[in-house]
Amino acid sequence: MSSSWNIGRIAGIPVRVHWTFLILIGFVVVGNAMEGQTPLTIAVNVLFVLALFGCVVLHEMGHALAARRFGVKTTDITLLPIGGIARLERIPENPVQELVIALAGPIVNFVIAGLILLAGISVPAAFHEPHFLLEGTFFTKLLSLNLFLGLFNLLPAFPMDGGRVLRALLALKYEYSEATRMAANVGQFMAILFAVVGLLRNPMLLLIALFVWVGAEAEATMVQQRVALKGVRVRDAMLTDYKTLSPDNSLGQAAELLLAGSQVDFPVLSDGRAVGVLGRADLFAGLSKGGTDARVSEYQKSDLGVVEADEPLVPAMTRLRAGEGPCLQVVEAGHPVGLLTLENIGEFLMVRSALAGASRGGRDSRAKSYAS
Ligand code: ZN
Repeated sequence: MSSSWNIGRIAGIPVRVHWTFLILIGFVVVGNAMEGQTPLTIAVNVLFVLALFGCVVLHEMGHALAARRFGVKTTDITLLPIGGIARLERIPENPVQELVIALAGPIVNFVIAGLILLAGISVPAAFHEPHFLLEGTFFTKLLSLNLFLGLFNLLPAFPMDGGRVLRALLALKYEYSEATRMAANVGQFMAILFAVVGLLRNPMLLLIALFVWVGAEAEATMVQQRVALKGVRVRDAMLTDYKTLSPDNSLGQAAELLLAGSQVDFPVLSDGRAVGVLGRADLFAGLSKGGTDARVSEYQKSDLGVVEADEPLVPAMTRLRAGEGPCLQVVEAGHPVGLLTLENIGEFLMVRSALAGASRGGRDSRAKSYAS
């Protein structure tokens, strides 16, 4: 994610801020200034937004550190104006582990709220406000927003933590994909409720309804795919008819290959080994800077992930989804034998679900959702 900046590491996990976060700060400053607030009030309000997002980071750290206990790494934590995202390398299918990881975030918010409450009761003078719990002060607002964050995230709907809690609880009794489907249905039912209330009362809820609806569908589809792909090897879904480049090829030759077929990412091989990849965007950038005579080696990306042909497909797909690159070079005994792209995996899934539909007379509606 190049649209976000690294602002440091906490417990070894990179914390990033998306640039749109600055808009939020700007919004607070401009809004306050137009209301005629004093610079001190504006500074306090900006500090409040930062404190709130500090709590969001701690919430995400809760997930990340709980995941670490089960050996799951967190790639990074990104702050967006709407909240935070902790990118876990994988979600454990063990229901108890998922339950602990999902609950860890909201629990952090409740702990923060409890600590503010305790501090307020024991040293009210520290807040320069004897009845600080009753007044709308900095810490009162922070306390109530932490309670809100904790409770809101526990709503039983994907992509909220509550959706994962519900799935984990259902998975104790039902099969994992079945539990996901049920949890997604509950989430979509809630999305409809949000939408109805949103239409009548608060348009903001419409946005949340959309967010929840899409999140539920995405989660269900992802799990269905994982189930559909169980036992499938990389070689089953790889592209075998593809073109490669050598580092000494010219960009003109690469452009010819691009125009000749539908392939957009070309592995760069040297002495039969994968040394990089030239994507369509790299090619265009190279052509506009260096022209057709420039070498592929000058504009290729130097990292092309490698995967063994006999490895299971799901972890390889997860690597592509996590943004490791546009494609992976498939090798067998060290030699390139194919190319793996998300597009090709999608086609593989569509072929499979079409075949499954044909063999069941096309009546199984779940087979269709693999392709959606
Ligand atoms: Zn969370």
